[in-house]
Amino acid sequence: MAANSRSIRYSLVIPVFNEEAVLPVLLRRLDLVLSRLDGPAEAIFVDDGSSDSSSIVLQALARRDPRFRYIGLSRNFGHQVAITAGMDAAEGEAIIVMDADLQDPPEVIEQLIAKWKEGNDVVHARRLSREGESPFKRATAHLFYRLLGRMSSVGIPADVGDFRLIDRKVLDALRQMPEQDRFVRGMIAWLGFRQAEVAFHRLERAAGETKYPLFKMVRLAMNAALGFSDLPLRLAIWCGLTVSGLALLYGGWVILLWLSNDSHLVTGWSSTMVVVSLLCGINMLMTGIVGLYVGRIHAEVKRRPLYVVQTRAGFDRNEAATVP
Ligand code: UDP
Ligand code: MG
Repeated sequence: MAANSRSIRYSLVIPVFNEEAVLPVLLRRLDLVLSRLDGPAEAIFVDDGSSDSSSIVLQALARRDPRFRYIGLSRNFGHQVAITAGMDAAEGEAIIVMDADLQDPPEVIEQLIAKWKEGNDVVHARRLSREGESPFKRATAHLFYRLLGRMSSVGIPADVGDFRLIDRKVLDALRQMPEQDRFVRGMIAWLGFRQAEVAFHRLERAAGETKYPLFKMVRLAMNAALGFSDLPLRLAIWCGLTVSGLALLYGGWVILLWLSNDSHLVTGWSSTMVVVSLLCGINMLMTGIVGLYVGRIHAEVKRRPLYVVQTRAGFDRNEAATVP
């Protein structure tokens, strides 16, 4: 847990994109939860280019009530970027990211905080159930988390969205990751630290409709797969090896038939097929090799830190001497 040096203890980061329908309920419930917390808290609304009255309502609130803050982005940058903007502005010792539509119940925040006080640095909120979402969304989400879990070498927890609490030191580390295509939950998993989870039932959206149409979901899934797995790159190599291997086997078999003067052998056709499939295989293999270099370049341009330090001890001897 961080030292009690900052004046704000809890920062809530809430991305908002055309959520005027849920704002009255959200603000009422947030007000209750904020007043129950055991320290000063701020709620940062990041307006991701809303075109409805959300901007006006939230700005007015931020001017009136010091617990609320408002950041208006100049256009719709997408959920993950909105979250990042809010986290960059957060001042608290513990930062909680949640959706505006009350699918992430504000009351769960208190459970997240309890786990944080036990000494955990990242507390995920895992969805036990998802109500009011189409069978298609549920099935694709289920598949997405399972596939990602298999493809990625960092343990990205299944059935966990962006609703989580992170400690200040995790946020400081996260801010050293400047990658453009952001998949925040994966980045936090990549960072490590002491992780715990709280389970909750995900309710139906309180009002309004989803701001995640299919194309945004596909983009998020692509960002996750490309940023946290190099399996797609290695695929070409394996395909290339398989095709070349089969072509060679086929070539050997054709030569055997030719040597034994088999009447099934079609002159001209067999040799052409062998050459074509072998060249195809070699082509794929070469693409795969280029892919490996591209993968290295990709890793470099992400400019992630090489490692993240969780604790240090015994480096500053003066500090140790002052401890009674
Ligand atoms: N959101 C956003 N920018 C977007 C899409 C969504 O800031 O481009 C916000 C939205 O207002 C909500 C949260 O991200 O607070 C999650 O979106 P939504 O509830 O529509 O997604 P779903 O729960 O349907 O996956
Ligand atoms: Mg939602």
